[in-house]
Amino acid sequence: MPKDRSELPPVEDLLTAAVTGLGGVERPGQVKMAQAVGDAIESEEHLAVQAGTGTGKSLAYLVPAIRHAAESGDAVVVSTATIALQRQLVDRDLPRLADALESLLPHRPEFAILKGRRNYLCRHKMAAGMPEDEDDQLFDPREVSATGRMVQRIQDWANETETGDRDEIVPGVSDQAWRQFSVTARECLGAQRCPSGADCFAELARERAGEADVVVTNHALLAIDAMEDFAVLPEHDVVVVDEAHELVDRVTSVVTGELSESTVSLAVRRAGRLVEQGVADRLQEAGEDLRALLAVAPPGRVDTLPQSLGMTLALVRDAAFACITALGPRNKDKDDPENAGLRKAAFTTLDEVHDTAQRMLDAFGPAAGGDGAGDDEDVDSPGSRDSASARDSASSGGANGGGTDARSEEVHRAEVVWLEEGRGRIPPTLRVAPLSVGGMLRDKLFGDRTVVLTSATLALGGTFDSLSRQWGLRAGEWTGLDVGSPFDHPRRGILYVATHLPQPGRDGLPEAYVDEIAELIEAAGGRTLGLFSSMRAAKAATEALLERLDVPLLCQGDDSTSQLVKQFAGDPATCLFGTLSLWQGVDVPGPSLTLVIIDRIPFPRPDDPLASARQRHVAATGGNGFMAVAATHAALLLAQGAGRLLRSMDDRGVVAVLDPRLATARYSGFLLNSLPPFWRTTDPAKVREALRRLTADA
Ligand code: SF4
Repeated sequence: MPKDRSELPPVEDLLTAAVTGLGGVERPGQVKMAQAVGDAIESEEHLAVQAGTGTGKSLAYLVPAIRHAAESGDAVVVSTATIALQRQLVDRDLPRLADALESLLPHRPEFAILKGRRNYLCRHKMAAGMPEDEDDQLFDPREVSATGRMVQRIQDWANETETGDRDEIVPGVSDQAWRQFSVTARECLGAQRCPSGADCFAELARERAGEADVVVTNHALLAIDAMEDFAVLPEHDVVVVDEAHELVDRVTSVVTGELSESTVSLAVRRAGRLVEQGVADRLQEAGEDLRALLAVAPPGRVDTLPQSLGMTLALVRDAAFACITALGPRNKDKDDPENAGLRKAAFTTLDEVHDTAQRMLDAFGPAAGGDGAGDDEDVDSPGSRDSASARDSASSGGANGGGTDARSEEVHRAEVVWLEEGRGRIPPTLRVAPLSVGGMLRDKLFGDRTVVLTSATLALGGTFDSLSRQWGLRAGEWTGLDVGSPFDHPRRGILYVATHLPQPGRDGLPEAYVDEIAELIEAAGGRTLGLFSSMRAAKAATEALLERLDVPLLCQGDDSTSQLVKQFAGDPATCLFGTLSLWQGVDVPGPSLTLVIIDRIPFPRPDDPLASARQRHVAATGGNGFMAVAATHAALLLAQGAGRLLRSMDDRGVVAVLDPRLATARYSGFLLNSLPPFWRTTDPAKVREALRRLTADA
């Protein structure tokens, strides 16, 4: 074991030791990637690496990351989009890697997982039994008892858990039940003031992370750490973003604000215990006005602010601010932790309501924003200025910032507001999100650390340009590398585009598509993953084919997705149809998955408010909105969907795209260049023959 950091073996030697220790085979793409990651860390240059399935990319970044941590003494942060990958890293890859590298490093590599505060049990809230959400939505006695049973399960688990991590609870519990036992970062009293601070699970997780060489987290927490003025993650100068194709969507979710009767009434309930009745009543009345307005407003993007909505948002904002003022100084109860907890919760919710209402008004320009009381930089003014400044920088540095000769409001628009329809007991909800998070990522994430971004899908249309633009990176600030795939795509896979079929229409799945799917599945003997662009199409195909085919047919929603995938993987004759989560989440090597059917090019829905606003904004600033937004979205999903086919070196099969536009439209070259280099055909007879041969060989 080298005692000195200068004696550390080079990345290549560590990788060889890691691969040998894990019983794997060294692959050229993996070696190339590990070297590039090591070089990027050393030269402090951002790097984007596309590494196909089977490359072994987690080792290719973990090895140089661990070496850097050993050399610098600082942690390296690894961020993922999914819990599945977090688990794989923490439960499987990192422990084995630590065993394999221990003898070559000054100390055994330590690792830890760190999630957002709301994922951990809050001992203070549990002990105080804070009456969180005695929610008027809970009027259904069945739901009350279901939530009550979950609450009981959480309490039983709380007596035993050593981590307080919500993910330990199996089966999982609803957000509503969990909220009774958790706080957000803004609601937390802070370990110094909290009576349970010394035993706080979130603080313990942070402490463990502070001692680790590798800290595994998720994109949301990474974004919060980058945006906020206070550190959430331990000090680090290198971040590896795995599943980087998800980064922009996850960051957008973090900075999306929402306002509905529910959010306002939660603020009223929390403030109502602490301020004069009349002040809380004013907010309640504003919330009722909002409810009445949203109940009759058409869902979708709000392009111009109707006067009634502008007035109601201003009423909500001002009433929330009146409650905030009535609560008094924020640190009033510093010696009374129980009351401090209630006040902190009230401040947090009121701040959110106030700031979101203001933000929605601001989205329509300064005239709409008015000069509400909340605009004063009062000594005790609401506390979300960090997010506001983050959003400001998001808009200023976006790919299409407006120029002085801008001709339309569209050019200057920074945020988009839309109304989402109510579902069940979820009321209609107004949302606001930035048109671009590129500026924010550029300033806050890429600004003062080295970032390595990786995924099996980053080079769209053959280049990294589309995604690097969305990340806010400019030419010369980063390097792109495609290390390819160990799979022999032209020999192992066929891309079939059904050019003889009609273009997909708006009226559901065409009859000719159903016939084509039936013929392909018959030729494959089942073994089919059907990836549909809507749940409606997936269900229509399932219903139409259940009678017609004598293979088991599963449809997403019949059971939990993980259960369905298990059934699908366990029986080669079984087919599984579904939508979005299957496009990215299915990993089934072997003959159970021989055919992937894609019904149509997965463009965003025309009524998707954010995508359509982004597209229009790019067009207004002289770019090609369709290519920058819709085609990029489709290319990413198509590549992810096609990537379900080959999952191991022995796999073979067909990706069948029924939408003929993939071969005929003017943008088809961009989409085709985003897919793995399968052998291509448009001949249905050849494909069916190939499928029959594959089935016979299986
Ligand atoms: S420090 Fe915060 S999260 Fe931890 S127990 Fe106290 S209030 Fe809860």
